[in-house]
Amino acid sequence: MDGLMMEVPLTLDMILRRAETIHADRQVVTRLADKSWHRYTYGEMAERAKRLSLALNALGIKSGDRVATLCWNHYRHLEAYFGVPIGGAVLHTLNLRLHPDELAYIVNQAQDKVLIVDESLLGTLARFREQIQPEQIIVIRESDGDLPSELFDYELLLADVDPAAYQQVALDESSAAAMCYTSGTVGQPKGVVYSHRAVTLHTLGAALTSGLEVWEQDCILPVVPMFHVNAWGLPYVAAMMGAKLVLVGQHVDAPCLLEAFEQEQVTITAGVPTIWIGLLQELDANPQKYNLSALRKLVVGGASLAKSLIQAFEERHQLRLVQAWGMTETTPIGTVSLLREGQDQAGQDQQYEWRARQGTPVAFVEVRARGDAGLVPWDGSTMGELEVRGPWIARAYYQRADTADRFTDDGWFRTGDIVSIDTNGCVKIEDRLKDLIKSGGEWISSQDLENTLLAHPSVLEAAVVAIPDEKWSERPLAVVVLHADQQVTADQLRDHLRDKVAKWWLPERFEFVESLPKTSVGKIKKSVLREIYS
Ligand code: AMP
Repeated sequence: MDGLMMEVPLTLDMILRRAETIHADRQVVTRLADKSWHRYTYGEMAERAKRLSLALNALGIKSGDRVATLCWNHYRHLEAYFGVPIGGAVLHTLNLRLHPDELAYIVNQAQDKVLIVDESLLGTLARFREQIQPEQIIVIRESDGDLPSELFDYELLLADVDPAAYQQVALDESSAAAMCYTSGTVGQPKGVVYSHRAVTLHTLGAALTSGLEVWEQDCILPVVPMFHVNAWGLPYVAAMMGAKLVLVGQHVDAPCLLEAFEQEQVTITAGVPTIWIGLLQELDANPQKYNLSALRKLVVGGASLAKSLIQAFEERHQLRLVQAWGMTETTPIGTVSLLREGQDQAGQDQQYEWRARQGTPVAFVEVRARGDAGLVPWDGSTMGELEVRGPWIARAYYQRADTADRFTDDGWFRTGDIVSIDTNGCVKIEDRLKDLIKSGGEWISSQDLENTLLAHPSVLEAAVVAIPDEKWSERPLAVVVLHADQQVTADQLRDHLRDKVAKWWLPERFEFVESLPKTSVGKIKKSVLREIYS
């Protein structure tokens, strides 16, 4: 017997219609390249997104064609987030920090037809322009100078169309809305293709109380770039819920962020741990300078969040860090670390401990972990590779038959993260498969060692990597950045670790450095450290 409900496709135009009708007056605020502020409403954004859709149509863009963006976070990028997919084309956000050869590879593999680029990034484009053949390049202007005739001016294109001519395209919910390449450290980047249905359901899941818990009254500032996994879905969540959205372009240094938080009364923000480490230093140096009383949640993801950082923010600045886990392949939100019923009655230290885990899967995401002998029990200690499944998890990479082994025969995605899962389904990442240290046949968690090192008051950043060892096959080596004016010896750090980790985990070698190499999205590049020290 069939259900008698409407089969309404889950497509991004639904979110746009909601934003332009229910939340028409809510604001989108941008900090422009020259540091001035631009403000408009979701109503105006929707009108311009439709203009963009018409303009792309006029340029010959058809359903399924890829439209790439090389842009910072700003309102016109937001217009592309909607304007590209509502016409049936596919938004392909390019990570502007990648190597030019990598960008060329990505644009060519995705067969991008149109490239929308910030004027300030034309220099970045020039470095791989010769290697790609998009049919058109559209420039988002930031100055009044002349534009070479082969380039289109974004604003002129939008001005040239008649918004009354806009007609909603009937979209198939399983068709592609967006794509993004993994920032993988090994091999060529792999394309992940998000369907309308996946992004729409992800938006719903992320907004829930078991996700990021977003209200219309919220003001969201994604520090995470809009080129990194749909800015973790936050622009779509904000538009659906009617939350004010603040986009700060390239102005993501700590004082600029803090200024924006205070001025715009930001309630939710999100970024990788590196951002918050910088922010903590600024707050520690100027504890009274900023009024952040509106800020109720700093979402941290992309890399492991140390308990000591949660504690420092909470106890020194009354700010709450919330950890989330996800991947390019998971649109990206997979788990969020919230205290479960009754856990808020436990001692403070225990609560920090729980919140430093990656968390429970959001609704519609399922998790399991596999060890050498099959699926591991949810006992909070047995380690295995995390596998996930759900309506916003990738089922394949774009045109990469060679990666089929990342997907199990029964339809789960193998994440490459080594985890334990407790009886409540709370996931704790112990390591990346490739970062695990196998010493004398046993696994050492580099993340546990790093997080424990970070709890030492002199340590600003830490990375632990495997180096070859004749006797044990691998041993951990710790690379440490100290706070300015701090001095500490390897022996003192070993003493600090001694009662917190197993004795055979203690690194023999410590290297003290000024800074750690980072990936294009701000994560520590362990592959480089392994190369240097092994
Ligand atoms: P990306 O696809 O670039 O977003 O990278 C995804 C990877 O980042 C995951 O497979 C994890 O290894 C890592 N990651 C993301 N969030 C977290 C987190 N909260 N804690 C630890 N690792 C994380």
